[in-house]
Amino acid sequence: MTFNPDIIQGSELTNKKICTLFGCSLFGGMNRSLKTNTLVLVTNRIKCLYQDRIDEDIIHYTGMGQKGNQDLNDAQNKTLNESITNGVGVHLFEVIEQGKYIYVGKVQLAGKAYEENQLDTEGNDRLVWMFPLQLSDSSRFVPVELDKVKNLDADRARTASKLSPEELLRKAKQARKIPGSRQATVKQYQRNEYVAEEAKRRANGICQLCLLPAPFTNKNKKPYLEVHHIVWLARVGNDSLENTVALCPNCHRKMHVLDDDTDKKALTSLYG
Ligand SMILES: [Zn+2]
Ligand SMILES: [Zn+2]
Repeated sequence: MTFNPDIIQGSELTNKKICTLFGCSLFGGMNRSLKTNTLVLVTNRIKCLYQDRIDEDIIHYTGMGQKGNQDLNDAQNKTLNESITNGVGVHLFEVIEQGKYIYVGKVQLAGKAYEENQLDTEGNDRLVWMFPLQLSDSSRFVPVELDKVKNLDADRARTASKLSPEELLRKAKQARKIPGSRQATVKQYQRNEYVAEEAKRRANGICQLCLLPAPFTNKNKKPYLEVHHIVWLARVGNDSLENTVALCPNCHRKMHVLDDDTDKKALTSLYG
């Protein structure tokens, strides 16, 4: 009997819940459960040591071994490599937010394991084993929310900003030149076009934060300003004239990057 954990793909579980369901402990990436005859894989996208990659519906999963060359016949590398014949069910979780494990699904090898260069914990170049994995029923991965992917990118950028110049350069040079890709979902707000147009006309070509003229005119020779909601729609702000201003691209970006209270007060005082 093949173990079926009965989890909906894309749902979030805690470490503890996974341990209970699969009868394993969850340390690091590859976790074997003899009780359910499964191998529970975790791709932790926050931790940057292993350079797992998602390329549409294949995840290239880095084997185990933090230092030196990895061994294909070592522990769970062997289990995963032989998973087509050894009867072990392989299940994959992805971490893109601390402590939250998204169930990707039951997976299988999509091709042969292959070697590539990655840096180890001590920053030395070494060979790792990569396992191309796809969902067992060859279906598509459940898309994650774009906002979560963006937060993850910001986390990874922060980690990169802390590297020494030498380490950063080494990692940058080692980067694969072809970017991976994945499907993500985005929540699209239906903005009222009359509110937006009135907000722009009202500003009359002047940014309402820095009070400077729009930096350029658009193709229709109109001053280029962007409509911004003082209380973001994502924070349940209203799509109303009172909550809407027109900003130059710089100030607009500033509002979203800094989210500064003084700026917000200045804008609120215009029509509040
Ligand atoms: Zn401005
Ligand atoms: Zn905005």
